[in-house]
Amino acid sequence: MMRLLILGGTGDAAELATKLATMEGVEVITSLAGRTREPLVPLGDLRIGGFGGVAGLTNYLRVMQIDLLIDATHPFATQISWNAVDAATIVGVPHLILIRPPWEKVSGDRWIEVDSVEAAATVLQNQAQRVFLTVGRQELAAFADLKDIWFLMRMIDPPSEDALVPPGMLLCDRGPFTLNNEREILIHHNIDTIVSKNSGGDAIYAKIIAARELELKVVMVNRPTIPLVDYVTDVDAALAWVFDKLQY
Ligand code: NAP
Repeated sequence: MMRLLILGGTGDAAELATKLATMEGVEVITSLAGRTREPLVPLGDLRIGGFGGVAGLTNYLRVMQIDLLIDATHPFATQISWNAVDAATIVGVPHLILIRPPWEKVSGDRWIEVDSVEAAATVLQNQAQRVFLTVGRQELAAFADLKDIWFLMRMIDPPSEDALVPPGMLLCDRGPFTLNNEREILIHHNIDTIVSKNSGGDAIYAKIIAARELELKVVMVNRPTIPLVDYVTDVDAALAWVFDKLQY
């Protein structure tokens, strides 16, 4: 029996856990940071909350006798990914990153690419009036000083009461989102600019298609650097990696 830890928080992580839970010879534990009030619960075991840095994760891998580690966290969750590299190296546990390819700009896209959420806020000044902000609850403060812009802010859970939030309206919802849904939002709220992280994948790509159709600007936050270790870009490839390890 091999015990596998999945660092989760994404749809791909949940899908992978669910598929692995039915695989003979594998015991799956998914770890979530605990940011979402009602997370999607995958099949297999679940633990919630930070480990306590590299030392905590190293200890967890040892105590739980983890044989394989798959980091299927969001492309913008870099701290946990770097911690995973270090902890897996220290313990000597085989480690894989599952990361969706980034979206590529295509003909008709009006993207302004930036390297951080703070840079996205700077770009909005003087060129946006009504913004669809889809970078997540934890990033709202970067936009809080933009008092002349109206924001439609979509996130899974509302921000805490003391959070710095820009002017506008909250929309609490969880993907996937259809093209009709996204088109309707953009038109109804008279949006002129979208701000998005380059998350990749299909579940939330419809807003990018809708922006293209409506010729709206998208301020696209490029991905941070991730560790250059073994990686795959889809769930099937991750399953193949696990299957391969089971042979030895
Ligand atoms: P982060 O900055 O990389 O991590 C900050 C700390 O949160 C880590 O050092 C770790 O605490 C804890 N942590 C993160 N992911 C964890 C996991 N799967 N299991 C246990 N602890 C975890 O992460 P983040 O950007 O705050 O993202 C948190 C979670 O939300 C991740 O699971 C990610 O997949 C998901 N998510 C993030 C985004 C995004 O845009 N950042 C979007 C969608 C989903 P310790 O050091 O104490 O271990």
